[in-house]
Amino acid sequence: MTDKRYFPPELLNAFLTGLKPTVKQTIIGNSINGLPIHQLQLGSGTIKVLMWSQMHGNETTTTKALVDFIPWLLEANQASLLNTFSFFIIPQLNPDGAKAYTRENANGIDLNRDAQKQTEPESKALSTQFRKIQPDFALNLHGQRTIYGAGKQGNAASLSFLAPAADNERSLTPAREHAMKAIAAIYRALEDDLPQGIGRYDDSFNPNCVGDAFTQAGTPTILFEAGHYPNDYQREISRKFIFKSFKALFLHLYHTDKETEVTDYFRIPENTKNFVDIIVSLVTIEDQGNLYKNQQLAVQYREELKEGVIEFVPAYHCFGSPLTLKAHRYIEATNLNLSFTFSQDELIKNPEFYKLFSIIN
Ligand SMILES: [Zn+2]
Repeated sequence: MTDKRYFPPELLNAFLTGLKPTVKQTIIGNSINGLPIHQLQLGSGTIKVLMWSQMHGNETTTTKALVDFIPWLLEANQASLLNTFSFFIIPQLNPDGAKAYTRENANGIDLNRDAQKQTEPESKALSTQFRKIQPDFALNLHGQRTIYGAGKQGNAASLSFLAPAADNERSLTPAREHAMKAIAAIYRALEDDLPQGIGRYDDSFNPNCVGDAFTQAGTPTILFEAGHYPNDYQREISRKFIFKSFKALFLHLYHTDKETEVTDYFRIPENTKNFVDIIVSLVTIEDQGNLYKNQQLAVQYREELKEGVIEFVPAYHCFGSPLTLKAHRYIEATNLNLSFTFSQDELIKNPEFYKLFSIIN
């Protein structure tokens, strides 16, 4: 299996080395462990766009999409975009987390909860750029787990978006409205590719989240979440959809004639936590001397970095008869002896389970 999920600083460096000199590269700070935080600048337009990815180190798909987007922008026929926009791109805000494949930085801090306190050097680097650039648009690029569906009835949320609130009342401030209309344009461009596969995040206000803080400061901000597409654990398909979303967004902002409405944004189904990776049916489960027959067992992968490769370790999630959850994969245990003791460790250690649930792609 080729690992495409892991995107450590070395891969970013290889990409940066190959870039044309027309891309201005600066180091805007250093991580806790002393790794440089890079920023790229492209274009000379008056509309300033600030984009940052891998604020959560294990969310690599949007970084991979930037690796596709930047060379595309530099193609000769994209001159109109480069004359309209100035792009400030931080492809990997959390290099320590990217290296260790963790959400948090090396201090164990979630940088997307550090917008007010700003205790971490990575948070300071971002907010300094935000103040310096004063962007007209901000893109907060993330990846989401496989647990989300696009609405209760929908498919897996392969993409999700949010125009973060700027206050507790979730008011439609001008900045927020602008972001909502832009998301509606992305949705329109991608809904045929991903029918019932695009979700909208819950918009409760949390000023510790960077997107909320930036919207509060008056900058239209969009949260992008690359999610799961069927059988795409390497996230190479959602990578393409994120790339397409970027193109759709900037073409929309460029061609201001194609208007969208705030109501179009609210038509996007809300993200629901209703998926697991696998549901196995007809399982016998033994729990402290009690035998449960004909059960459905939900299994959720745990992503672990082992020798430079992301392994998907099957882990017990829950069981029931029947479960109300949906799964990305269903297995019937009819001809398999799948009785096991109800404990997460037991499941992980059981070689038969491991073989059955390991991803082959
Ligand atoms: Zn994230």
